[in-house]
Amino acid sequence: MSGGPADGPMSDHPTEKCGVVGASLSARDAALPTYYALYALQHRGQESAGIVAHDGFQQHQHVGMGLVGDAFDEADIDALHGSAAIGHVRYPTAGSVDKSCAQPFSVSFKGGALGLSHNGNLVNADELRADLAASGHAFTSDGDTEVIAHDLARNLLDADLVDAVERTMERIHGSYSLTIMHDDTVLGVRDPRGNRPLVLGTVEDGYVIASESAAIDTIGGDVVRDVRPGEAIVLDDDGTGFSAHQLVDRDTTAHCFFEYVYFARPDSVIDDELVYEVRRNLGRQLWHETGVESDVVVPVPDSGRAFASGYADAATEDGSDVEFAEGLMKNRYVGRTFIMPTQEARERAVRLKLNPIKSTVEGQSVTIIDDSIVRGTTSSQLVDLVRDAGATEVHVRIGAPQIQAPCYFGIDMATREELIAADRTADEIAAEIGADSLSYLPLSAVTAAIGKSEADMCAGCVTGAYPYDVDGEATDRDAERPTVTPSSDD
Ligand code: SF4
Repeated sequence: MSGGPADGPMSDHPTEKCGVVGASLSARDAALPTYYALYALQHRGQESAGIVAHDGFQQHQHVGMGLVGDAFDEADIDALHGSAAIGHVRYPTAGSVDKSCAQPFSVSFKGGALGLSHNGNLVNADELRADLAASGHAFTSDGDTEVIAHDLARNLLDADLVDAVERTMERIHGSYSLTIMHDDTVLGVRDPRGNRPLVLGTVEDGYVIASESAAIDTIGGDVVRDVRPGEAIVLDDDGTGFSAHQLVDRDTTAHCFFEYVYFARPDSVIDDELVYEVRRNLGRQLWHETGVESDVVVPVPDSGRAFASGYADAATEDGSDVEFAEGLMKNRYVGRTFIMPTQEARERAVRLKLNPIKSTVEGQSVTIIDDSIVRGTTSSQLVDLVRDAGATEVHVRIGAPQIQAPCYFGIDMATREELIAADRTADEIAAEIGADSLSYLPLSAVTAAIGKSEADMCAGCVTGAYPYDVDGEATDRDAERPTVTPSSDD
């Protein structure tokens, strides 16, 4: 439960699969700002990075494995000519980790050149793939992104760009925030429930679309607004403007609450809410709902910090003399993989990453604050760590509800069997991890802190009822899974 989305194998956090960028500029190549924007989205995917650019005549592509800084060198960026570009960072959850899976996905077809970056996950990709394959489409990967690309390419043969996107949106079901490039026209599309974030920004010579506003900040731009659920934003290919097309309307949205709790950068604004402030509010709620008197409040770095400061502030306002202090130090240089040949080494792996500050916790009752527990693999080690450093009591407070069910929408979380809360109460989990007490924040308090109604949020991993029609799972609303009718083209 420590660290951030880039934590690697010892993390007990779910992992975001992807971040997307698109840019259309007037006065320069778009590859370099796209590269910097991908850097700002590195937390959303660390396995591969890629950019596809278009110079008005042809597409240029580079994808590489690893972090953005490793995937590109200066020559790679220089070769990506054109004032239109899309980019992608990826963290795959299934299949082989190699270049064939890296995005953006690109394809040349009768209707031109198409590039596509996807954050999210379709739940009807298999039906669509079978339908498209039956009408002659050959697939080179098992990913759902290629399914979207083929469907869109098919529609582009006899429709303009916006109509083609609308037709594809009528067939695909699930979570998607997309940046698409058709020849040198860039557009952003957000699924009708708005599950993953997508934001439009402007720079001095054009427009940019990105998963998070922090990416637009990073390249010196200004946020214009969020891309609305069900909307396509088409950037003018000369960088001078954009057109907005509300293609699908739904009564409710299904924003992923975990974006606010953990995935997104704290300095990003998602659907009008600054993520850092949401986390501080969650911490405040955590005190009001589950507060426990203790001497010191300690965040799990870095993800628990905003929660812990909100928690300690609310406690102090209520007259508690609890102290907020750094009690755990993180080794920032622990990579994504390291050698753990034995079970004992794995169990002790948390020591590679976190070390307690003895003077903060020794002889004190300590409340550890973090954002979530998924598998619970590191929680007991953290409690042991703090107890071994001399804490007299160790309480754990978590700024999210109990995660009891998997995610099907682009988050690598865990199976039900792996989720510690799937079949245990909070008290049972407290006993298992050795904490004196453990409390979670109820879902109602989470949605209140985010400032949205429960009906407009996805909470499938908490309730086991999902906003999309997933095979074998319950839905919590009219999920409107489209019937895939056989294609009759090509
Ligand atoms: S199931 Fe959970 S992690 Fe997945 S989209 Fe919904 S809220 Fe987010």
